[in-house]
Amino acid sequence: MDTTITTPTLPGLELPGRARRVEAVHRGGPMHWVGDGFQVRGVFPSRSLPMERVSPFLLLDHHPRQAYPALTQGRRGVGWHPHRGFETVSLAWEGTIAHRDTAGHSGIIGPGDVQWMTAAGGILHEEYHEQEFARRGGAVRFLQLWVNLPARLKMSEPGYQPITAADIPSVELDDDAGRVRVIAGEFAGARGPARTHTPITLLDVELRARHRVRVPLPEHHNALVLVESGHAKSGSEHARDGELLVFENSGAFVELVAKDDAHLVVLAGEPIDEPIASYGPFVMNTRSELAAAVRDFELGKFGPVPA
Ligand code: MN
Repeated sequence: MDTTITTPTLPGLELPGRARRVEAVHRGGPMHWVGDGFQVRGVFPSRSLPMERVSPFLLLDHHPRQAYPALTQGRRGVGWHPHRGFETVSLAWEGTIAHRDTAGHSGIIGPGDVQWMTAAGGILHEEYHEQEFARRGGAVRFLQLWVNLPARLKMSEPGYQPITAADIPSVELDDDAGRVRVIAGEFAGARGPARTHTPITLLDVELRARHRVRVPLPEHHNALVLVESGHAKSGSEHARDGELLVFENSGAFVELVAKDDAHLVVLAGEPIDEPIASYGPFVMNTRSELAAAVRDFELGKFGPVPA
């Protein structure tokens, strides 16, 4: 399948209506380690960013480019741990990451690939630098996003979508402005391969310096843009490496202008208007459901830890 689409005009530049305004430029917390393998910045959750403004997303960990030395023995990553009530989505740009879970899914993602893992009723999984990659060492750059599930799906069957770079349509912007890879939702007539449980748009955007792109989004969808690297602005608000633009729910489209070459991730979705009760790797609706998750984990109901 040819996944490259060339549009005759820069998509969206003639869109009616006005641009959404930036409500906040959010900088995440300090860098921290996940296990012994991943140095990330927790962009959210954050006290300064209300959960209802980022719904249906729960968590965003950004792993900026970081080189790891060759590993002579052992593994580098995070060992078996549970999840219940939501999905974990990993996008890799550099490095190779391996996953294995107790629902029987495993996979390796490399540059351009996406792993969409639905924990739902509960899994245990491990996330490691892939062994050959770890032996060689090299740069890692990726993000992990937690996507909430509505109450009716929190205890459903776990799922797994390995999405390779070749599965993801790439829209070439006119005037050599860059390109938009459509992972979920739609952009300029291209539809992303990810199957989502609520309406979500997830775009991976390379925008060249002094160019712009407009992304139409339903007004009631929350809209966030991570400036993964580079420097971009929207209206008069600037964001650089690792900063998150949070948009008002008013206006027909998000407009992004690259000041320098910029790598951007557009995250948007219909808010899930339900209570959230979370404790570490469990995200449910009520405290009693959380207590049940902890109890079920302790009783081994998420499955035995594989040998
Ligand atoms: Mn995990």
